[in-house]
Formats: sequence, C-alpha cells, structure tokens
Amino acid sequence: MINKFDLIVIGAGSGGLAAAKRAASYGANVAIVEADKIGGTCVIRGCVPKKLMVYAANERNNIINSEGNGLNLKNLSFDSSVLLKNIKKEVSRLSELHYKSLKRLDIKVFRGWGRFKNSNQIEILCPQTNNLLDILYGDKILIAVGGKPKSLDIIGSEFAWSSNEIFDLNTLPKSILIVGGGYIACEFACIFNNLGTKVTQLVRSNKLLNGFDIDLSHSLRESMLSSGINLIFNDELVSIIKNKDKFDLLLKSGSRKEEENVLLASGREPNLKNLNIDSLSLNIKNGFIEVNEINQTSQSNIFAIGDVIEKPNLTPVAIEQGRVFSDNYFGKQNRTISYEFIPKAVFSNPEISSVGLSEEEADNIYSTENIKVYKSKFTPMSNTFKKNKSKCMLKLIVNKLDDKVLGCHMFGESASEIIQMASISLNKGITKKEFDETMALHPTISEEFVTMY
Ligand code: FAD
Repeated sequence: MINKFDLIVIGAGSGGLAAAKRAASYGANVAIVEADKIGGTCVIRGCVPKKLMVYAANERNNIINSEGNGLNLKNLSFDSSVLLKNIKKEVSRLSELHYKSLKRLDIKVFRGWGRFKNSNQIEILCPQTNNLLDILYGDKILIAVGGKPKSLDIIGSEFAWSSNEIFDLNTLPKSILIVGGGYIACEFACIFNNLGTKVTQLVRSNKLLNGFDIDLSHSLRESMLSSGINLIFNDELVSIIKNKDKFDLLLKSGSRKEEENVLLASGREPNLKNLNIDSLSLNIKNGFIEVNEINQTSQSNIFAIGDVIEKPNLTPVAIEQGRVFSDNYFGKQNRTISYEFIPKAVFSNPEISSVGLSEEEADNIYSTENIKVYKSKFTPMSNTFKKNKSKCMLKLIVNKLDDKVLGCHMFGESASEIIQMASISLNKGITKKEFDETMALHPTISEEFVTMY
C-alpha cells in the first residue's frame, strides 16, 4: 500500500523543517524524508557547531592575549577533546528537539534517501543497504536536500577533509592547510589558529572573500596575517601524498609543504545525486534547480528551496523560503521574498558583516560619481592592552541622489550583531541624514556609524 500525503518534503534541514512545520500547522498531511540526522547542514555540520567552535576559539584567543590586563597565563592548558565532545552532545540535543517538534505536529518522518520514482512518487531507500523501504505518494513534493562540499580533482583529494569531517574530529591537528578563500575557509582558518593549530591558507585568486566589499577583504587579510596565519595567494594545490602521519603537498608554483591535515573548503554545490532527478524534466542551471518566484520548478507539483536553488545559500533564507512556500500553498497566502537586503557575516576573528551593496556593486549600478563612501578604520579600545592590535573598519555606501544608505559594512567585534540591527534600517530605506540624526552610544565601535562625515 502506498502512503499518501498532501506534501512530501525531501530533506530535514533548515528549509525542509520550516516548510513541513508550517504546512502541518495549516492542517496539511505532511511527510519528511531524511537520510541523516534531523537538522541538516546548519544544525549538524554548519552554522551551529561552527559558531560553538568560534566562541571557544575567540575565548582562548582573548585569554592568551590578555597579559596586558594583568592575567597570569602560567599553566594555561586547552583540551580540544572536551570542546569537540561537548559540541557533538549539543548537536545531538538540538537534532532530537527538531525530531520531537515534528512528532508533536504529527509529521511522518521517513528515515532514508528519498528518490523520485515519478513526479508524484518518492521511494525511500535504506541509507546503509540502499534497499527499498517504502514508496510514498505526494500531491506536492518539496526538494530541500541542501548542498555538499565540492571536491577537488587532484591526486590524493580523498585524504583531505571537507567541512563535514571537521565536526567528526575528536582532537584538533597540530597543523593544517586550508584550501579556499571563501567564508567557510576564512572562518576555519581563524578557528584553528585561535585554538592553537598552525594554519596555512591557500587561495587561488589574489584576495579573500569574493563578493564582499574590498575593504572588508583587505581588513581581514591584515588581521589574519598579524594573528600568525600563513596566507598564500595566487597558487593552487596540485597533489596530496601521504607520508607516514603527515601529508606532502605540492603546489602549482612548484613549492612544497608538509602538513598534518588538509581541509578543502573550495565551494559547495547542490546535493542532487541521490534524487534520481534525471528521470524528471526539471530545468537545471549552473547545477541548481531552476524555480520561479514562488519556488515552483518546471514540473508544476514539484518545488525547491534552500541551497539547491541559486539564491543566497544561508539558513535564514532557506527557512523563509520554506515558510513562504507553505503559507502560499497551504495557508492560501500570496507571499514572495525580497532578496535585496540580506545581512551576511563571516565569523572570522574579528567578525565581518554586511548588508546591502558593496562599493564595487554600487559603482556598477549607480556609477561612481553618484556614490559617496564614508569609512572609518581605527584600533578599538578593547585592543588597548592586547598584543595583537588589529584595527576595525566601518563603511557606509550612500546614494548621493537621494541620500539613501545602500550598503553598511563592518569588520570588528560583534559586527554580526550590529549589522543585524542596521539591516532593519536599510530595509526601510534609511538615509545618511537619518543615521546622523541618531544619538551615538559611547564608548562603542558602532557609534562611528552615526558620526561619520
Ligand atoms: P540543509 O540544511 O543542508 O538540509 C538538507 C538535508 O537534506 C540534509 O539533512 C541532508 O542529509 C538531506 N538530504 C539530502 N539528500 C537527501 C535525499 N535524497 N533524501 C533524504 N534526505 C536528503 N548559513 C548561515 O546562515 N550562517 C552561517 O553561519 C552558516 N555557516 C555555515 C557553515 C558551514 C561549514 C556550512 C557548510 C554551511 C553554513 N551555512 C551558514 C549555510 C547553511 O548551513 C545552509 O545554507 C542551510 O543549511 C541550507 O538549508 P537547506 O534546507 O537548503 O539544506
């Protein structure tokens, strides 16, 4: 007998969980299919365990930088196994909470790989044996299978870790080569460095963080170098050869390195491999499933959200897409999502955060003569007695024609918390004059945002 549902969600990550719960809250009969732990990338091997590592790393870094505050650092020790064990425990707790909330809403959970049999039927395969466990029928099917790390086509790539394996570690390595210049590579470089691992980061281009404002990229580069990270630009990894308990690494330039481990963080791609998606006539572009503005694919009863579509691949975006999908199709609403002012962060040390346009984007859209840039770079008071006196940087991009603030960028402590609040103002069309009319809160870093001229 085939189980029938109003909605089958494939993937119990950020987007899938949000969509399933919202649809069930309207009374829909919902099934969710998941081959791994409930929670998806964010909870199991992304935002959450990473941020817990960031907190621990920053704490250790603050302490070892604090002799100037009178702290006696003798006999200080750090046991990475305690931290990594605690993170695993917390991840399991959160996964269990998600599972319970699905049960509470009477959502049927199927544990296995979901694979299309046809446009309405999903086969459930056992993750261990690949045996067929079940066949489900859905009026609507939502693909929310997320993304996966891209591998590199080089000799020995099987020896390297991806971001997934980092969260399975029991202890941290003494040295690591991190390949990539994007946000995941930069975050792990700072995390490992601040937890005592010797870090080399290899970047194919000549800069970090493509897509972020250039001043943020430069500020992070300066700060990473001064914190002891070895940054190599304009070079590529060619091979990884195992040599006892180390790896011999060859770079395109001909230079060689020896490291205890390698982390490949050179991009992510949609995780479509187990879906049998080729049996459907879905439009795929650049590897992503194409959808219209209400997340419908070229097959009218099949929808896609989250990291499988070509929109900002971030947890809040996937969640909102999931909720909007269910509000529209089960709550009879007529919602769409604005992708204009999505705040984003890099949890480096210190943090980077941004909302709106970078200077380069604003120049391209409005032309340079119509843009005014306000910038402030200084040593924050919190670094007064520290050995590493890295500077913070704040930047506003303003449209001269109507005084609207087009972009707000920050490199410095708590940047993500500050930009989250600034994003409300930018979303509502705030002007530079309104920033200036706002009273400063002193002494803070972010007061510069309302005092820059
Ligand atoms: P996912 O959360 O990836 O969920 C997809 C689920 O589908 C997975 O559980 C997978 O097992 C399951 N699945 C796949 N195929 C099948 C199948 N055939 N059958 C059954 N189940 C299947 N975003 C932020 O906003 N802030 C951050 O700080 C941040 N940090 C990140 C750090 C790292 C290291 C990584 C990798 C990502 C980070 N992200 C961050 C991105 C964020 O995690 C993703 O954008 C978000 O999880 C996407 O949600 P999703 O629902 O599309 O997919």
